Amino acid sequence: MTKAEGASSLIRLFDPGACIFSEGEPGDCAFLIEEGVVDISIKRDGGDVTLAQRGAGDIIGEMAIIDGRPRSASAVAVSPCHMIRITRDQLQNRIDHLDPVLRHCFDTVLARFRETMRQVTVSQPAITANSLVGRREQSEVIQSIRTEYELARAIENNEFRLYLQPILELEQQSIAGFEALLRWQHPERGIVPPASFIPIAEASGQIRLMTQWVFEQCCIAMTSIEELGAHRELFISLNVSSIDLSDPDLCGRLADTLCRYRVNAGVFKLEITESVLMEDTERAATILQECRKMGFSVAIDDFGTGYSSFSYLHKYPADCLKIDRSFVESVCDDQRSAQIVSAMSTLADNLGIPVVAEGIETSDQARKLNELGCRFGQGFLFARPMPMQDALKLEVIDRGERRANRQITSVSSSPHSKIDTHRHLDRKRYSHV
Ligand code: C2E
Ligand code: CA
Ligand code: CA
Repeated sequence: MTKAEGASSLIRLFDPGACIFSEGEPGDCAFLIEEGVVDISIKRDGGDVTLAQRGAGDIIGEMAIIDGRPRSASAVAVSPCHMIRITRDQLQNRIDHLDPVLRHCFDTVLARFRETMRQVTVSQPAITANSLVGRREQSEVIQSIRTEYELARAIENNEFRLYLQPILELEQQSIAGFEALLRWQHPERGIVPPASFIPIAEASGQIRLMTQWVFEQCCIAMTSIEELGAHRELFISLNVSSIDLSDPDLCGRLADTLCRYRVNAGVFKLEITESVLMEDTERAATILQECRKMGFSVAIDDFGTGYSSFSYLHKYPADCLKIDRSFVESVCDDQRSAQIVSAMSTLADNLGIPVVAEGIETSDQARKLNELGCRFGQGFLFARPMPMQDALKLEVIDRGERRANRQITSVSSSPHSKIDTHRHLDRKRYSHV
């Protein structure tokens, strides 16, 4: 029997009759069958007993990488097979983040299954595969494993780009800082938005490397801003995931990076979403406190969309609230949204922390939000997320305009309009997505 392998480590091709793995050998990976049929058999009384046949969408060989014990059966290709390889590392992060009760059930099922396998005799019928996962879910699993491989390559090949979206002080309409947003320059698919890959990177644990990369880029951006002579405190906000907040090495890594780039933690805000905070409150709170001690600010992102916004504010001392776009988009047309935004900014005011309104698309929204007490705003009205170099140029232009405005207002006694609808940050020129 020959084992035929594909060129990449992602896909493996097996000819009919090829042995995919053998009973008793150590297992370093599982396989997702993309195409083909596989026989699963065990040796009993000197012969092979077929236990089951597996087909497209099934995973085989997963037990050995979950419990680290030798293969309990052999797998042989019946027809030409396309298999996607899944390594122990890819599963480990998912297993680590399983609910403990589920994890216990999982271990119990595995142990019982191995025991049943041990007792199988020649006369017993084959076990048939009854997948609980439907066709659609199967193709999602395949796509997600593929993306995981591509992400590993993306990290090595430098395919990520840091985009920055300006955050403005609404009253003066000047840039106060930027939010760092990750983009993936995929060699075939072009720019891939984060919603298509962040959840996969979180499930696989690759997000840690990505957060580290984003943070380094933010340090580089901050150094460039300082070199360009911005004599004011601009900040950069970066998104931090729940996986980062379960990592005891996070603070150490951040501290090393700050040291390497000689940047002060005080210029960075860590944006945490409420759903993140819901997962492991104690551990997340401890890590966040440590970050604050180092000088980082903490912003609660998408405020108002989680289950229990008030209890988060109670548990996690936040330095800033970001009001979710869902409230902003209806703030002019829906009295209730306006009242909610007003209540949120009063709350923030009482806590002595500023509010950033997200997703501002019209001048009316900007004006209304400013009236309701939002100090900062971010949205396509002002500028879209853009490559770092463009954002830095924009900051220089903004600085020049502020200087010119100061000169104009110092010689003019005319009242300064709160929101100048003509002064959007040159969004025609900076229309990146
Ligand atoms: P988020 O943190 O809430 O980021 C704001 C999102 O709103 C960004 O989407 C931004 O492009 C978009 N946005 C800004 N202004 C407007 C507007 O006026 N209208 C509309 N329709 N959208 C606006 P993006 O860049 O696609 O990011 C989506 C989400 O992906 C982010 O939501 C964040 O949760 C996540 N993400 C992005 N970069 C990173 C990262 O480096 N690390 C982590 N962990 N998550 C990230
Ligand atoms: Ca954010
Ligand atoms: Ca947000």
